[in-house]
Amino acid sequence: MATDQNKFQAIISHCKEYGFIFQSSEIYDGLSAVYDYGQYGAQLKKNIRDYWWKSMTQMHENIVGIDAAIFMHPTTWKASGHVDNFSDPMIDNKDSNKRYRVDHLIEGFAETLEADAAAALIAQMEELLKENDFAGLKKLIEDNKIKCAVSGTVNWTDVRQFNLMFSTQLGSVSEEASEIYLRPETAQGIFVNFLNVQKTGRMKIPFGIAQVGKAFRNEIVARQFVFRMREFEQMEMQFFIRPGTQKEWYAYWKEERMKWHKSLGLNPANLQYHDHVKLAHYADAAVDIEYNFPIGFKEVEGIHSRTDFDLSQHQQYSGKKLQYFDPEINQNYIPYVVETSIGLDRCCLMILSEAYEEQDLSTAEKQDSRVVLKFPAKLAPIKLAVLPLTKKDGLPEIARELMAECKQHFYCYYEEKDSIGKRYRRQDAIGTPFCVTIDHQTKEDGTVTIRHRDSMAQERVPMAQVKEIVMKKIME
Ligand code: ATP
Repeated sequence: MATDQNKFQAIISHCKEYGFIFQSSEIYDGLSAVYDYGQYGAQLKKNIRDYWWKSMTQMHENIVGIDAAIFMHPTTWKASGHVDNFSDPMIDNKDSNKRYRVDHLIEGFAETLEADAAAALIAQMEELLKENDFAGLKKLIEDNKIKCAVSGTVNWTDVRQFNLMFSTQLGSVSEEASEIYLRPETAQGIFVNFLNVQKTGRMKIPFGIAQVGKAFRNEIVARQFVFRMREFEQMEMQFFIRPGTQKEWYAYWKEERMKWHKSLGLNPANLQYHDHVKLAHYADAAVDIEYNFPIGFKEVEGIHSRTDFDLSQHQQYSGKKLQYFDPEINQNYIPYVVETSIGLDRCCLMILSEAYEEQDLSTAEKQDSRVVLKFPAKLAPIKLAVLPLTKKDGLPEIARELMAECKQHFYCYYEEKDSIGKRYRRQDAIGTPFCVTIDHQTKEDGTVTIRHRDSMAQERVPMAQVKEIVMKKIME
């Protein structure tokens, strides 16, 4: 698998240096696998979230959005199977005490092998995972002499399950307090509200409920920046359908979601499907959409055919009927569900990875380079930088007029300091698609120089056209 650790490290440093993503509680040396989004990261994330929300809800007349609480009745997680099943097989190295997720340990080793040998090893692993054959997995690790990266030894414990849910106490008095969980996925907030939404929204099957929100997982090995976090954000949509139609709807959403990824301007060669071999306890079919990160092809989104598992379980555990009367066939049934589930943080990392470019611009006369984030204009945190050439001669006043006109429509950035060249470079580094320079000619004929981020081409246009030029690009 082709990976580019240098590029990955460069993106992490860039995110920190330019206010996209910081380690949480950095002044206390950080908290492992928890991250804060800075001024540009938060805006990038919001733009992706809004784009997803719009394409799911506004663009589908039969999908509505909700916002359920993070805390849920603890029985929810018993019913959903998370208390008993939401765990990963793990193994500890006895010499270093370092804990590994078994699949990550084996996959990491497979990356060091030739393609055929790696594929054979992964196939063996997936078969054993499917059978929950822990002894077999340990033997596979031992037979391949897979070593701990820290101790360099093969002195392993048995393989065990590790539940990924965080728990806490609800209630002020300890005797009365009950144990509750921080949700490990947003989906259950949708299932328990299925009837509320169906009835109050007079929804007819097929219909969907979408939601964006935080989820928490006590990941065993949390690494790889915002790819694997302990607190992260999910964008999920549950599509409720008539039993027996799940194959068609699964195929539909599989294709529809791939189209969405391509609409983000991603190179299609960087996207692929990966069918699940080991299905989750609730699924009858599942596929991942993977993106070619600098650390290799990895999951960004899962599409799962969840059958009627969740609603049946909630009906059983709550004792409340969760059925739908289908007037077209005159029948009551528990709907089947096809889910699309995408991680917002992974999506940010995907957009950053695709956009990040180091360019050598040296000529015979001088050395030059730039780092540019080639975000699609609709996702860029700042759309337009307004730059008066000097701080005097009335240029800032004209620049302020343009700011006032544009900032009602999209995010703008105003800057007077430093040479225009330096200011351009700073905007390239945060991915601003357009810079406009106001100079002395502007005072004479009302034109400005607009500079395009990717081509670095500059053209003279009437200032009155700037807003339209930017708006047109954002709408693409
Ligand atoms: P993985 O196999 O990588 O742990 P998963 O299959 O458990 O992921 P799902 O339960 O299908 O993931 O969750 C749906 C989406 O939520 C994933 O495709 C991913 O984008 C995101 N996600 C899951 N776990 C994390 C995490 N720890 N950090 C960031 N995003 C996550």
